Order: sequence, then structure tokens, then C-alpha cells
Amino acid sequence: MPAADSLMFVTRRPDVTFVRGEGSWLYDAQGRAYLDFVQGWAVNCLGHAPALLRRALATQASQVINVSPAFYNEPMRRLADRLASLSGLERVFFASSGAEANEGAIKLARKWGALNKGGAFEIVVFEGAFHGRTLATMSASAKPGWERLFEPKVPGFIRVPRNDIDAVAAALGPRTCAVMLEPIQGESGVIPFSTSFMRRLRELTDERGVLLVLDEIQTGIGRTGRMFCYEHLGIRPDILTLGKGIGGGVPLAALLAREGVSVFEAGDQGGTFGGNSLMTAAGDAVVAEVSRPEFLAATRAAGEHMMQRLRALSADMGLGEVRGRGLLAALDLGRPTGAAVVKAALANGLLVNSPRPECLRFMPALNVTHAEIDEMLVRLRAAL
Ligand code: PLP
Repeated sequence: MPAADSLMFVTRRPDVTFVRGEGSWLYDAQGRAYLDFVQGWAVNCLGHAPALLRRALATQASQVINVSPAFYNEPMRRLADRLASLSGLERVFFASSGAEANEGAIKLARKWGALNKGGAFEIVVFEGAFHGRTLATMSASAKPGWERLFEPKVPGFIRVPRNDIDAVAAALGPRTCAVMLEPIQGESGVIPFSTSFMRRLRELTDERGVLLVLDEIQTGIGRTGRMFCYEHLGIRPDILTLGKGIGGGVPLAALLAREGVSVFEAGDQGGTFGGNSLMTAAGDAVVAEVSRPEFLAATRAAGEHMMQRLRALSADMGLGEVRGRGLLAALDLGRPTGAAVVKAALANGLLVNSPRPECLRFMPALNVTHAEIDEMLVRLRAAL
């Protein structure tokens, strides 16, 4: 029986099995090479099998892998200190997936509301949002097709249109504890909130005494050319969630909060794998590398190159808008042909993704070369 027969059905997968990866390249069981602009869903920020990550994992695995979250371990403390100093948010909780970090953010905001705002628990969220696949994070999300799934949803999420500060102001009431959003909505098709909206939102949440929660699971850890996307905007959140790139491919996520918001008491939050030595050692090596100013500068340069090349292709082929920042980009196809283009690209040895039927998304390794970007454009043009 082929192994795939035992897998529970959750998605349709193409008939290819990848066995090896190196940098921006993946190889299937027949030895065929694919240029990877998906990178495990924007996860392998240093590409496939980077030496730095292999070393960090091997070294840590030979020392200690897991001591339980009830004890300190060295890499957990090192990575927490590093993230706190990079973000300016003093407290860090580690989780194993983005949804789990967001679930923690929702709980933390509700706890803060319970303690500081007379039991306020509502969280204002946005049209087009994607925060994960646990029941609460699905309830906070607005993915098309999810409206009637797994009812009843978790209550307490008030949804407003993107970039509409008056709608947010009107939604804030005595029961509101927080506003939660992705600075660029990734799964929705790389849709950025405007800088003026984000600045006004920071002012408004301060004026009204509610928390600003940024979900940077997709946009954080260098993806947009800065360590955190909020650095482009000149603001700082009260609560921040990170995932995907933070582990360079291994399951790691983090929930950060400023000191005054870190109100969990013993027993409120935890998780068996949270902060284990192996994953945090990997994360520490990855974050140390990505946060180097020269690394981020190279990411910005690669991002500009990719955007410029995508815009030229779009103009040439009469396609639509190119959106995004750094190495997170979308190309609007103008018609719902995304799935067909993804399939044709795969046949041409290129992995890209279509988060919405009418667009393609590009999220290569942050150390992708300009030559690899050029090669991607050649394969994409053929697929189109
Ligand atoms: N939040 C955002 C912005 C995401 O893009 C994702 C995943 O795509 C998640 C949360 C969920 O993360 P995970 O799949 O690791 O649970």
C-alpha cells in the first residue's frame, strides 16, 4: 500500500515526493530539481538544509533535546533575550505553531481585559484576516469558505473592513480588550494595511486603552526586509506573534508582550513542547543570522529585484498588480487561474503558491540570489 493511502485527507497533493533540498532548490525522488519559491510556506528563511541550522540542531541534539517547559534550558533563555532585545517587548512565551501563538495572544488579551478593563473580552479583527486553524484562531479569521465551518465558533470577535479607521473606532466599546491584525494579510493575497491606517490605529488603541496585537507570523523574522514589519511603520504593538521563519523550518513560534501586558498567572498558559531546547537552539541560530544588518540589507535588495522583475513581467503579459514588501510578494493574474498556473509551474520545475484563485504568492528563502529570482521569472513566464 503506498504510504499516502494512510494519510488522513486534508488537501489534494500533487503526485511528487520531495526527498532532498539545498538552498532554493528541492529534489524529488527521481532526482528532478525544482526552484522553491514556497519554502515550506515561508518557513525556510535560510533555504533548505542550511549548514547553520544543521549545526545548531546537531550540537543541541547531542546535549539535551527536551527538559519539559517546567524547567529552564539555556537556548530557551538565549532566544527569549534575543527576541526581547530585537523587538523591545520584554516577555516571550514559546509555542510550536503560529496558531498556538495566536491562541495564546487571544488568551493574554482576554486575561488583560479581565484584570484591567472590567472583564472586557472582545477583539476587533479584520475582513480578509488569517490567524490559524485552531477553533479560536479560525473564529478570528475570515477565510472564504470558513463562515459555516465547525459551528459554533468562539464568540467575541468583531469584524471590520480593512483600512477603515472609523469602523474600528465605532467597534471599540467597553467590552473591547484588543485589536488584532496582520500588518500585511498574507493568506488573503499579500494585502498590506496602509501606513497611515496603522499609525492612526496605534494612536486610537492608545487613546481608548485597548491592546494592539500584531500577528507577524508571516511578515516577521526578516520577511519584509526588516526584522519585524512594524518597523517600517514606526509603531510598536503591545502583543506580537511570530512563527514560520523563526525556526528556519522547524516547528517554533513565539508570543511576545510588553511587561505590563504579561499578566498570565501560573497555570494559564503552557504546552508540552513549548520552549524545548532543540527548537529554541535552532531558532536562536536562525534569528541571530537573520537579524544581522547585512543580512537584512541583502534581503531588501533581493526583494526590490524580485518586485521589479515581477512588475516587468506583469506589464509585458498584461497581468495585474504586484503587491508586497521585501520577499513577500503577490502577482495579480486578473482572472482565477492561480491553481492552473501553480500546476504548470510545477511541471516546469518551479514551486509557487496561489493563496487566492486570482493571484500568485512568492515567498523564497531570504537569502535567495538575484540569479535564482531571474530563473524563477523564466520558469514562471513559461508556466503563464
Ligand atoms: N497567522 C498568519 C498570519 C499566518 O500566515 C499563519 C499561517 O499561514 C498562521 C497565523 C498560522 O500559523 P501555523 O500554520 O503555524 O499554525
